[in-house]
Parts: sequence; structure tokens; C-alpha cells
Amino acid sequence: MAEMDLMEKIVSLCKRRGFIFPGSDIYGGLAGTWDYGPYGVELKNNVKQLWWKMFVQERDDMYGVDAAILMNPKVWEASGHVSGFSDPLVECKKCHHRFRADQVGDKCPDCGGEFGPVRQFNMMFKTTVGATEDATSISYLRPETAGGIFVNFKNVVDSIHPKLPFGIAQIGKAFRNEIAPRDFVFRSREFEQMEIEYFVRPDEWKEAFEEWRRNVHLFNDAVGIHDSFVHELEVADGDRAHYSKRTIDFEFDFPFGRKELYGLAYRTDFDLSAHQDSSGATLSMQDKEGEPALVPHVIEPSFGVDRTVLAILSSAYTEDELGGEKRAYLKLVPAIAPVKAAVFPLLKNKPELVAKAREIYMMLKRDIVQVMWDDNGNIGKRYRRQDEIGTPYCITIDFDTLGERPELKDTVTLRDRDTGEQKRVSIGELVGRIKS
Ligand code: ATP
Repeated sequence: MAEMDLMEKIVSLCKRRGFIFPGSDIYGGLAGTWDYGPYGVELKNNVKQLWWKMFVQERDDMYGVDAAILMNPKVWEASGHVSGFSDPLVECKKCHHRFRADQVGDKCPDCGGEFGPVRQFNMMFKTTVGATEDATSISYLRPETAGGIFVNFKNVVDSIHPKLPFGIAQIGKAFRNEIAPRDFVFRSREFEQMEIEYFVRPDEWKEAFEEWRRNVHLFNDAVGIHDSFVHELEVADGDRAHYSKRTIDFEFDFPFGRKELYGLAYRTDFDLSAHQDSSGATLSMQDKEGEPALVPHVIEPSFGVDRTVLAILSSAYTEDELGGEKRAYLKLVPAIAPVKAAVFPLLKNKPELVAKAREIYMMLKRDIVQVMWDDNGNIGKRYRRQDEIGTPYCITIDFDTLGERPELKDTVTLRDRDTGEQKRVSIGELVGRIKS
């Protein structure tokens, strides 16, 4: 498949089938914003829930927070974002279009004009808080979720009393006024992050770094991101942020090229020390009896939700031929699929079939929840529709289910998305099969 071609197909499927739409669509959009539709929001929620389960709920050394998006501006002064969270910007002298200096050549790609000097453009969205608009009311939409974790370090330590090593996790929106949003949800101005600050004793950072490095691959595997498309890039000394002693970018072969999917950084005690100096709060903790209090060091795995969704869609998009017909489908892992199973009555004008199918649908919905009803069009069309949204199983209720052939009473056909294979199974087996 030609690579750009693949991206167009994914974007088109996402819009056509209700996964992702351009933001403010009926008004012509708003650059760098995207809206998740009915299937997209289910898929995205599945990603976030799986991450939370794997990295917070299944562990006993992790604590979650959900901090406010608006924070005291001093947070972003201490973290260095106010002075340094910027990208290099150039403006064309002729058409005045603006570009990221590191993403264009010498001439304006729109009109061929000369560029003016490079200047730094701060990517934080500024807003004002309260009824008066002056310098004291300025605040920012958070550019990353990590800030909300660091300012709650003391609250978590004082209320939960964890011992090192332990981590604090947060999932939520982040905002960056990107100069050039592009590549669908890969680079947008409003997006979601899943971040962890894992606090360690200074001499134990290497072990924790390796553990989170392995965890990134385990997560990719669980959500169906093909590991063969993921590459670790060890960020060289000169390219790392000054406070980071080691950084690995996890890059993914997106249809538009190899780009950052996640980051993993050892940030020393830079953040806690900076917030301690700036706020005056004590951000050290007593880890062991008889030892002086210490400011923990931190390992930060940072996952972008939307880039995860795009990597999942790129991994899952498949074209093949089934029964002599070409088809396009999403080979999503069941844990991530927005719909786990679809239930069809063979014919929608036969009340006894519809009633039985409805009964089975309600039974499955109680247990599996992400189950869909579809009685529209012929069965072949319904299969294609479900394949396109990545539904692993389709269940058809026919006259045999009702007992036309007595030996098949209370059985249904269970069709597998990937092979197209159909099996006759008893109603009682369905939940187990779909969940396995
Ligand atoms: P890039 O170099 O691609 O701009 P970054 O290095 O600035 O990314 P981080 O600050 O490390 O990104 O952010 C952590 C994660 O948040 C990224 O790995 C990515 O998954 C996600 N992310 C960052 N910026 C965006 C964006 N504009 N749109 C969507 N996701 C983003």
C-alpha cells in the first residue's frame, strides 16, 4: 500500500465510520482540533482504561490524580515553560505565512518568498482568570499533565504515606499552540496525555528506567501497536533537556514517517527541586528511619493518547480478499475494539427472530457492555460494516436458533472478523467466547 495512500484511507475511514471528525466541522473546522465520534470515544476510552488498569490499578506502588487544567502561573514559571517552552518560528516576508523554522527549507513553501529572522514562539495558551483582565490574572492552559503531578507530590506523600519507589499517574488534556499542527491527530493543539512521575532514590534510577522501558513495550503489545514498527531512539547528550540524564524517544513508523510516539526520561530531581525553591514548600520526604529527608529523583514515561490511537489504527488497518470480495477492516485487539460483538436478527421483519435476538443482545450487553445491535441491510453488508470498525465477532440469530432444526435450537452463528469463519455455538457459550 502506498504510504500516503494509507493515511488518506485511515482519515477517511475515521470520518465515514464515526471515529474522528475535524473539530468544529460545520463551521469549516479549527486548525489543530479534532472531535472523537461514537466509535472513536469508545476506542480512546478503552486505551485510557487499559493504561490506568495496567499502570495504576494492578500495581501497589502507583497513585492516580486528576488535577485542574488551570494552574497557578507560578507552576509554569518554576518548570521553565514560561521562559523556555517555545519553538523556532519564521515568517515569510512576502505572504506573511508562518512556519516552524526546523520544519521548512530556506524559502517559503507557499510563495517562494524570503524568511525574516527566526524568533522563539511560546506554545502555551494564555488566558485570564477572574473578572479583571490584567497582568495578575494571566494563567495558562496546561501544556502537559506532569505539572499537576509535581504540585500534588506533597499532598500524596502527606495523605497516603508511600515509600520509595512509587509513582503518581494522571490522564488528561494538554494544550499547545503548535505553529504547524499536522498529520491528523499526531500533532494537534488540544490533545490528551497519560503521564507518570515515578519517584526513586537517586541511586536506584537505572533499575526504574529499565522497568518503564519494558513497560512501554508491554503496553504497546496490549493495545495492538505492532512492536516491529516501534524504534527506540536514545537521545544524545547535546539534544536532551539540560536536566535530563537519559531520554529514550519511542518512535513509530506512522504512514507519514518515523515520528515520536512516547518519551521516557530520567529528570533527576529537577522538577521537585524547582517547585520547592519556587513555592517554599518542603518537597523532600523521609524514606528510611534515621536517614535525612531526601528529594526523590524521577523517571517520567509520557504517553500521548491521540498518537496511541493513530498508531493503533495504523497497525490495525488491513485490506484483504474474503469470499472473492475485497474488504478493508480494522484488525483491532478485542480489548481496544469499540464494539466487542454485534448481534443481528437474520431478518428484521420476523418478530420472533427479532425478539430472540433482542434477548441475546440484552444478555450480552449486561456482561460485555460494548455490544451493538444491527438489523439494517443484508447480513453480508452488516459483516462489512462491523469489519470496518474492527468488531471481533458477529452473532446471527436465525430460524435454527428458534428450533427449526431441533438439534440446533438455542445455537447461533458466531463469525470471526479476521478469518470470516462461522461457527455454530450455543447461546450459553457466547460470553466466554467473546471474552477469551
Ligand atoms: P514533538 O517533538 O513531536 O513535538 P514533544 O517531544 O514535544 O513531541 P513531549 O513534550 O515529550 O512531546 O510530550 C509527551 C507526549 O505527548 C509525546 O510523546 C506525544 O505522544 C504527546 N504529544 C506532544 N505534543 C503533541 C501534540 N501536539 N499532539 C498530540 N500529541 C502530542
